Amino acid sequence: MKDGYGREIDYLRISVTDRCNFRCRYCMPFEGVPAAHHDELLSFDDIVQIARIANELGIRSFRITGGEPLVRRGLPDLIRALRDQCDVDDLSMTTNAFLLPRYARELKDAGLDRVNISIDSLDPEKFKWIARGGDLDTVLRGLDTALEVGFDPVKTNTVVMAGVNDQEIIDIIDFLTIDKPVVARFIEYMPIGEAPRAGLEYVDLSAKREELTEKYGLEPAVPRRGNGPARYWRVQGGQGMIGFITPISDKYCATCSRLRLDARGVVRPCLAYDFGVSLKDALRNEGPERVRELIETIILKKPEEHHWEIGEVSPVAMSALGG
Ligand code: SAM
Repeated sequence: MKDGYGREIDYLRISVTDRCNFRCRYCMPFEGVPAAHHDELLSFDDIVQIARIANELGIRSFRITGGEPLVRRGLPDLIRALRDQCDVDDLSMTTNAFLLPRYARELKDAGLDRVNISIDSLDPEKFKWIARGGDLDTVLRGLDTALEVGFDPVKTNTVVMAGVNDQEIIDIIDFLTIDKPVVARFIEYMPIGEAPRAGLEYVDLSAKREELTEKYGLEPAVPRRGNGPARYWRVQGGQGMIGFITPISDKYCATCSRLRLDARGVVRPCLAYDFGVSLKDALRNEGPERVRELIETIILKKPEEHHWEIGEVSPVAMSALGG
């Protein structure tokens, strides 16, 4: 289905929990967020029903996210149910990978196609400082396990912060993309949730990309899978690829194809605005036809673009929205 600006909406991010085992400084306060009671969350059955209704509107790409999706018990059961009961072209998950050594094989067998792993630093101390949880060793084991079990591609997300990890970009590229077939993606720091309060600074990654291209001879590369906002590059002879996600310095709202469903069942059309509509009550009290109408309405209300580049900030954190 097309939105009011002619964009085809074919991608739904599904948050399965607002809890997380990390406390990334830009994302979640150290004390955590008031966690939803189990009854307030969408059940796996609710999620599958919503995905089937989304199918009717042409949505066939799904990404599981959170919070940290792997802290939701029984997640492979949801993956299996989405595979078996819905029409799915692409089923992916965003994770901090801390629990991937334990779950990667089961998730792959259940039908998950690919994973995006968040890694903000390769320096163990800095990693801990940013994430305030977990440890780099386990996360890197999660990454290796993801490659071993055959997720394809394995992508990483690094949120770049001035004076924190911007000097590490080349080391991260070398480590992840020369001998490993990883797609290393660098993301501009967005003014959402905790970020405007965290005392950390944005880096313009369009400029950074030009600087790195010149200095290190990065060459354009064509991704095999995934229709996200990054444009890809590679180190000559490297196995992996490099992406720069530039929502602020070079925004890509004109090609945005996604909706987000949060763990409590609210569907939102845009990360930058705090409005959405609850599908949970509609599903439980009024039935699938009403859910379909609500999704159609929210698609038609999808805003044209965010205005972060002129200083606007957005109140709801990625962890709550389904980042
Ligand atoms: N827990 C999972 C993880 O760590 O990947 C999934 C949820 S997390 C909210 C999803 C992604 O959003 C992570 O890659 C995280 O770094 C990114 N993110 C959160 N807040 C952000 C911000 N203010 N700017 C840019 N990226 C952000």
